[in-house]
Amino acid sequence: MTDVIKSIHEPLLETDPEFIERFDSFAFGEASVHGALENKTRLTAILAALLGCQGETEFRNMLPAAFEAGITPVEIKEVVYQATAYLGIARVLPFLQITNEFLTKRGVKLPLAGQTTTTAENRREAGTQAQVDIFGETMRDFWKSGPEETRHINRWLASNCFGDYYTRTGLDYRQREMITFCILAAFGGCEPQLTSHAAANLRLGNDRTFLIAVLSQCLPYIGYPRSLNALRCVDEAAKERERVAEAMEKKTRSVFPMGDKNEAYAPYFTGQSYLNMLSTEGVVIGNVTFEPGCRNNWHIHHKGGQILLCTGGEGWYQAWGKPAQRLRPGDVVHIPPEVKHWHGATKDGWFSHLAVEIPAEDAVNEWLEAVTDDAYHTLE
Ligand code: MN
Repeated sequence: MTDVIKSIHEPLLETDPEFIERFDSFAFGEASVHGALENKTRLTAILAALLGCQGETEFRNMLPAAFEAGITPVEIKEVVYQATAYLGIARVLPFLQITNEFLTKRGVKLPLAGQTTTTAENRREAGTQAQVDIFGETMRDFWKSGPEETRHINRWLASNCFGDYYTRTGLDYRQREMITFCILAAFGGCEPQLTSHAAANLRLGNDRTFLIAVLSQCLPYIGYPRSLNALRCVDEAAKERERVAEAMEKKTRSVFPMGDKNEAYAPYFTGQSYLNMLSTEGVVIGNVTFEPGCRNNWHIHHKGGQILLCTGGEGWYQAWGKPAQRLRPGDVVHIPPEVKHWHGATKDGWFSHLAVEIPAEDAVNEWLEAVTDDAYHTLE
């Protein structure tokens, strides 16, 4: 506990010593060390939660500690800006004023350097890309979906909520999603949205343990009921994620066991694959399973070549200079020696094939560059 944070409730030591000593030792002691988050992450989460629960006084109190923890003026401002999409300008404005007063007092010159990366012309498109990056490929056409009379709101979500805020620099997607999670948890009454942002956090790598640690930091400021509700949303999102992964994996599973994570070839793959060697004598045969979005690098099977026997899900095969070919269970692909190519899953589905190495003297695989996201994501 630093002196800055110790002093934020100092005036109350006069009037409410018992109460505030107990609270401070809980919030700044017991609770603050739980989960071993970085101090900067903790305080960013707390600032976001204070916006969410409209705790103006405590937000003002917390700014010096946030500053001391190394949260930059740009980051503080971005937390406040980001909240606007979820709370509305009416709830955010006082916090923006408090932030401006604080920064000015600290000698920070306003306005800060611009962080926007979009224009009026490309914000919808950039916002859609942010939605896809955060929530997955199913969001690609979200902006033009829904009943006609309310479709503009889905478009605004893309252009305004995501295009105007998420595309800004100063905070990355993972930080923005953590902040959004804290804002919604503290705000309450928006559990469906909280669950979907908990899912987005999980998708971006802010795992359940991390979200519980974050929530534990917010708890002293937002109370138990909202913290417990948020916890339920995290669990719901985690369970749904597991359920979907399991269903997809089951759908893809071939009659051959999937095997372990393919660590040996991981440097030549984008995303997670699984490998089970079915035969290593005479003819080498491996069962390869690709998670959604996973593919191998461009590569060449020198001398021997390869045969792919597709067993589950949907995938791609592409030879250099040729269009990619969609693969389904039952498809057989003959890959001649010396042909540069790649194979892998589709963006949204698992894929499995048997890879049969055609025996040849001095047969060797040559691994080349990765298939870029740009090239891969344009396949349809
Ligand atoms: Mn191959």
